[in-house]
Amino acid sequence: MDNFIVSARKYRPATFHQVVGQKSITATLQNAIKNNHLAQAFLFTGPRGVGKTTCARILAKTINCENLTPEIEPCDKCESCISFNNNASFNIHELDAASNNSVDDIRHLVEQVRIPPQVGSYKVYIIDEVHMLSQAAFNAFLKTLEEPPSYAKFILATTEKHKIIPTILSRCQIFDFKRIMVEDISDYLGYVAESEGIDTEIEARHIIAQKSDGAMRDALSTFDQIVSYSGNQVTYKNVIENLNILDYEYYFKVTGFILENNIADLLLIFNEIIENGFDGQQFIVGLAEHMRTLLVLKNPSTIKLMHASGSLKEKYLEQSSACSVDFLLEALQVTNKYDLNYKGSSNKKLHIEIALLDLCGLSGIPNPEHAHQPIIKQSIPAPPKIEEKPKEATTPIAKKTEPMVTKTEEAKLEVKEVKEIKAEESKPEEIKEEIKNEEKTEQKKEIKSPPSKPQVTARDTGNGRTIKNISIKQSLQSLRDSKDSDGDQPEEVIVNVFDQQKLSETWKSFVESYVNKSPSFSNAIAKYDPVLKENYVVEYKVDSQIISKDLLSVTSLLEFLKTNLNNNQITLNPVFPEKSEQKKSYTDREKFDELSEKHPGVLKLKDQLNLEIEF
Ligand SMILES: [Zn+2]
Repeated sequence: MDNFIVSARKYRPATFHQVVGQKSITATLQNAIKNNHLAQAFLFTGPRGVGKTTCARILAKTINCENLTPEIEPCDKCESCISFNNNASFNIHELDAASNNSVDDIRHLVEQVRIPPQVGSYKVYIIDEVHMLSQAAFNAFLKTLEEPPSYAKFILATTEKHKIIPTILSRCQIFDFKRIMVEDISDYLGYVAESEGIDTEIEARHIIAQKSDGAMRDALSTFDQIVSYSGNQVTYKNVIENLNILDYEYYFKVTGFILENNIADLLLIFNEIIENGFDGQQFIVGLAEHMRTLLVLKNPSTIKLMHASGSLKEKYLEQSSACSVDFLLEALQVTNKYDLNYKGSSNKKLHIEIALLDLCGLSGIPNPEHAHQPIIKQSIPAPPKIEEKPKEATTPIAKKTEPMVTKTEEAKLEVKEVKEIKAEESKPEEIKEEIKNEEKTEQKKEIKSPPSKPQVTARDTGNGRTIKNISIKQSLQSLRDSKDSDGDQPEEVIVNVFDQQKLSETWKSFVESYVNKSPSFSNAIAKYDPVLKENYVVEYKVDSQIISKDLLSVTSLLEFLKTNLNNNQITLNPVFPEKSEQKKSYTDREKFDELSEKHPGVLKLKDQLNLEIEF
């Protein structure tokens, strides 16, 4: 039986050119060798398995080679190269500081440094995991590092640069090794597989590369593991079974159910995943990755980032085109949020289920009509009388609250409501057609009618101007209200008859409720005399300044009256006092202005004495 050599060793790069994913570092080292500017000490830092030790060995071999190639690579033929390749060179010393970190170990090394090389020109000392050296060992080493013999080169390697003391750092040339890109690892696995005569699927290599987190060594050992499990056919199925990775098919299905708002199947498939022994967090992270891939495919320029064979790529593209970018972005946020909070949740399964429900909520965004459907269905039990009432009750009011531009919009909305209710009764097609025609005529009527209404002008020439902006605000509010109620149930018409006295009492209690919240507003409102007019219009004379300041409070006043008088057909009609009408002054500022208007001397006095008035 052949001696099995693990791929990580068998395919360990022997030249700078073969090093994967660290081009800038190898190029810098080669340049330094070429220009004879090589430092005496190096610090190679970076994650595990990315090629630090490999590069250190290649460097040692290259600087000792007797016939460097023009590309500054070792010749692999000279005596030195051969001894390096056989691991028999005396010019390379490796010390694993993780297990040899005492002062004695370092002293031993320092003694060796004194002896010049017998063959070749340099002695290279590689100290792996140098951050594990004890403080005393560091100190013992420092002296040698400060004044090394010319033939000695030190290469310190560490995964944790921050643990290296500054005195060491300042004496080293530092090289930061990067994680190796998934594509680079995948390609290299392809090369190794080819050399070994093993068939691999691109998805299989890709998933191994992804799992290795940028470390070639891990990727190669995973590869060996799968080869020993599945023989000379490394398929995607083999890999996910062996590494216990969730199949992308699941993510396609889950995303499909989310888009369909199919909560039942979504929860069932998630249950299946859990029963197969997968972890909830693993699932949500994988789902996030899936969403990312779909997002990447949204832009033709990033499609090339996607490494998959033709049919799978097609599948991704198809699902990607079914999602909006907004949906994908929000889905990424949701999955990320639930991933972050996963550890803190006490019911992990429920936690992920809530995440899935959240994601289902998103699917409504690109298609709001779709999301509305079930809600409208809920309003079926609403009794048919509602259909009648709004027509009766709202028409007179439409006549009352006139000068709004938005009136027609409101009318449309009412029509819509009626239409929806009618539709609920599931009438046959012809009747629906009828409704449509009705709608059209109704709309036309509404559009035509406002200018012809006499009340509009009557109100304008009445006891005061109508404050348009407030009315618009109010009607916007009522529009908003009706929109809100549009979602669940059409607003019911509540008409409770009340008299002037009841109105005054309720007005008073509103004033009291505002004493603490906004004394000035409560004060102002207290001084208005609400007058009950026909059709529940409440008229009151106002001072424009205060009203404009407290628009929101005015809406709350209306709500208060509606609720407490049990009548939602009440409308407010604030009117300005006529010019001739004496204006009441409430604030100090107003009082002062009034005074100075009557007696201009007051202003003069204030200016001449250079007075400042605090209001
Ligand atoms: Zn050589």
